[in-house]
Amino acid sequence: MSQYPAVEQTEMHPLRWGDPARAGALPEATRGLVEFAFGELSERAVVVDAPLPPCGLPAAALAELRARVGAEHVLLDDAVRRLRTRGKSTPDLLRARAGDLTDAPDAVVRPGSHDDVEAVLAWAVAHHVAVVPFGGGTSVTGGLVARREGFAGVVCLDLVRLKRLLAVDPVSMTATLEPGLRGPEAEALLAEHGLTIGHFPQSFQHATLGGFAATRSSGQSSAGYGRFDALVVGLRLATPRGEWRLGVAPATAAGPDLRQLVLGSEGTLGVITELTVRVRRLPAEKVYEGWHWPSFDAGADAVRTLVQGGLAPTVLRLSDENETAINLARPDAIGADEDAAAPAGGCLMINGYEGTDEAVAAQRERVTAALTALGGTPLGTGPGEAWAHGRFDAPYLRDSLLDVGVLVETMETATFWSNRDAVYAGVRTALAESLGDGALVLCHISHVYETGCSLYFTVATRAAADPLPQWLAAKAAVGDALVAAGATITHHHAVGTDHKPWLGAEVGALGTSVLRAVKADLDPTGILNPGVLIP
Ligand SMILES: Cc1cc2nc3c(=O)[nH]c(=O)nc-3n(C[C@H](O)[C@H](O)[C@H](O)COP(=O)(O)OP(=O)(O)OC[C@H]3O[C@@H](n4cnc5c(N)ncnc54)[C@H](O)[C@@H]3O)c2cc1C
Repeated sequence: MSQYPAVEQTEMHPLRWGDPARAGALPEATRGLVEFAFGELSERAVVVDAPLPPCGLPAAALAELRARVGAEHVLLDDAVRRLRTRGKSTPDLLRARAGDLTDAPDAVVRPGSHDDVEAVLAWAVAHHVAVVPFGGGTSVTGGLVARREGFAGVVCLDLVRLKRLLAVDPVSMTATLEPGLRGPEAEALLAEHGLTIGHFPQSFQHATLGGFAATRSSGQSSAGYGRFDALVVGLRLATPRGEWRLGVAPATAAGPDLRQLVLGSEGTLGVITELTVRVRRLPAEKVYEGWHWPSFDAGADAVRTLVQGGLAPTVLRLSDENETAINLARPDAIGADEDAAAPAGGCLMINGYEGTDEAVAAQRERVTAALTALGGTPLGTGPGEAWAHGRFDAPYLRDSLLDVGVLVETMETATFWSNRDAVYAGVRTALAESLGDGALVLCHISHVYETGCSLYFTVATRAAADPLPQWLAAKAAVGDALVAAGATITHHHAVGTDHKPWLGAEVGALGTSVLRAVKADLDPTGILNPGVLIP
């Protein structure tokens, strides 16, 4: 069986992150801490069961769609359409809480095969209907909000029926799977073969393989297993112009790697209907541990030294002083007992080792020697186990905080090591100028490379009466700061609609023109996720 949480694959809460059964009020102990930081809290009103705009698709078009994929797979009821409206960014949640369902799709279509997907796309071209490929619905960049203007309607192409493990090649160590499998479902299927993909983003329990590929996701074990785009070796795509298969060999010099054009294309070029990914043997041993560093700079230098020395463990992350103090590196411990808490002051590093018993022991010994020589203080497995235990819990806290008028959101970027400090300072300054000194800004190094790292920020502030414009202004300030500092607008959350205004600055006018040309070739009438990604 899978070693990873066997989550009941329920629908997410329409107004919150995750499992509806876990929706809860802010724990009393945490409330005290939050009131200390932001003042007295007050419950915010939430509009429950707001009405949806009616389906606007012509009856004849609907009848034809039903004929193509089966009437039972074309859903118009409000309950289903509500759950397929937008993703799970804080702006998405704020709009949903305010009863704004204007982005609801006219219909939810559930294809059961690649051919079904092609049939839906052909139908959409014929009727000029926008199509939003939908995996787990965990987008945090507005990737599920297609432009409606100029189209006869919008359908959500829900990939929930495409959930098969199609093939395992234990010799090459690859597996071919369908895109609608959520993280735990894919891991459970592969665990029966003693295998794992090793991709565990914080959204793991609800996001899908197709979504991981379409957004170039990066998981918490990326130092050991790699980013998702580095794990994909083959793809099958359904486009308005037909099928496109890519990936016949582990490496090739046959021109540019077109798989990389599809990875990160966010449903704008085609629908991923199959993926072949690298797999690893399930680790027999897993050890997570903590190290203490006197400062973020000292810890970051240690992280860099490890990676550049070829010593990076499977998990490697470093919280800055604020995050260490607030203990968001271990969300389960907020307001809980001291016991396994991080040390006072300084910064907490979490290292995780996964593999055979021998490999873990040998690597841990080498890393321990290196970190000791660099001046780190070992904290044992307590902080590491606490992090591993609570690693998927923090998003639930965001909802409980929104309930009482505290706005929380995360942002991420990446830059070269030599630019880390400037980017860190630039983002913090932008947030302080936009949100005021009362905002709490936390950061950790979340993904590492020989040449640089990803910085992942969490910001919390007292919500204004209307928090949406407050947050959008802060987000814009951060986007400008990232461009000014020469960092990427996104390391793993993708572009969607939210980051699109800054994409041109990152890829240049020629890059924008190339993207538009590819889109025009594969999707000549522009039905696939219009308004997303492509400037
Ligand atoms: C609480 C939380 C924590 C998160 N943590 C992480 C993290 O640790 N690392 C990380 O990388 N991301 C993280 N994310 C972001 C998000 O989970 C990723 O973007 C994820 O990869 C999206 O997968 P999904 O199945 O939910 O896709 P969706 O949200 O359904 O779709 C995302 C985009 O991909 C397109 N798409 C989906 N499936 C397909 C397909 N089969 N073919 C073509 N296009 C498709 C959609 O149209 C959309 O544009 C987090 C999000 C939340 C809410």
